[in-house]
Amino acid sequence: MAKITLQNLRHSYNPEPKGEEDYALKRMSLDWADGGAYALLGPSGCGKTTLLNLISGLLIPTEGQILFDGRDISNTTPERRNIAQVFQFPVIYDTMTVYDNLAFPLRNRGMGEAEVDKRVREIAEMLDLSRTLQNRASGLTADGKQKISLGRGLVRSDVNVIMFDEPLTVIDPHLKWQLRSKLKELHQRIRRTMIYVTHDQTEALTFADQVVVMNNGEVVQTGTPIDLFERPMHTFVGHFIGSPGMNVMPCEVKGGQATFAGHSVQTVNARNYKGKGQKLEIGVRPEFVSFAKTGIPVDIVKVADAGRYRIVETRAANSSIKLLVPDGDHIPVGKTHLAFDATRTQIYENGWMVGVRP
Ligand code: ATP
Repeated sequence: MAKITLQNLRHSYNPEPKGEEDYALKRMSLDWADGGAYALLGPSGCGKTTLLNLISGLLIPTEGQILFDGRDISNTTPERRNIAQVFQFPVIYDTMTVYDNLAFPLRNRGMGEAEVDKRVREIAEMLDLSRTLQNRASGLTADGKQKISLGRGLVRSDVNVIMFDEPLTVIDPHLKWQLRSKLKELHQRIRRTMIYVTHDQTEALTFADQVVVMNNGEVVQTGTPIDLFERPMHTFVGHFIGSPGMNVMPCEVKGGQATFAGHSVQTVNARNYKGKGQKLEIGVRPEFVSFAKTGIPVDIVKVADAGRYRIVETRAANSSIKLLVPDGDHIPVGKTHLAFDATRTQIYENGWMVGVRP
């Protein structure tokens, strides 16, 4: 296993990149600890696959270095990087048994049969494949085949990193949550460095200790699931994580006081704001908004039942503001007022939380 360092990494598919917009991956520097569970989370086209391919060696970076345990491997071949990869669709040998599929990566490296047998049975046990070991892989469902792919990725103990690229895409929805928690459990048992790529926040937040959120070829925040929920550094993170996402409304800040549509709003960080007022916004999650006697005047436009709580959508001065109301609590009709929890309300400038990025 290895600590992975990305140092001023940048990549363009254009052989002669001119401006920032020519880079599919903007400059980034990251440290991934040996044995950590990481997720790369972001929408389609944000650069996740590009980053994976740079780490696995399928692409050579335009600029910067990739280090494994301090050793620069940016220009070495994929084989020499010693990485196990699990793809979106199962990569298995249909004509072989489940056992031989799992044994393949080990036999390929000349491991003795007794050791192969031990490792195959261990992994099969973890993935509930023990009873099917002698079955032909061709007879299995897509779920079963993908479990073998996962097993093939996990079976070797000598790899530097295991990378999962949207591995649950072909898995039946009712089995997804089962495999998601299984992967987390597997990480805790075998403690290898794992990178899990997905556009699904639930998968990322369940699996990873640290989530790297990407947008437009850029890392917008790296943090624990709690960090991303409680302190989204960028409005994109606020939107992308959470259900529903963070409310974002335009605002003004004068003399350290934020106002939205002419109404004062208490925030964590407006007091220290000294910028030029470029695209200022207030961000507050629906969890931290409540009905009040005074505050922001709003019209209630929609109430949706979400089980233990209701999602109430309101409108104020062309902005939509959502709040979560526990089941059984009173919801006013028509016009009312909202209050924001001042300790959970932040201001953002050009998307970035004020005080985080100049
Ligand atoms: P998805 O989840 O859809 O796979 P992604 O987050 O993995 O998306 P990438 O596939 O890394 O994103 O794409 C990042 C950007 O690079 C996109 O704008 C894409 O169009 C561009 N891109 C990807 N591969 C190539 C290529 N071979 N040549 C040129 N541009 C590419």
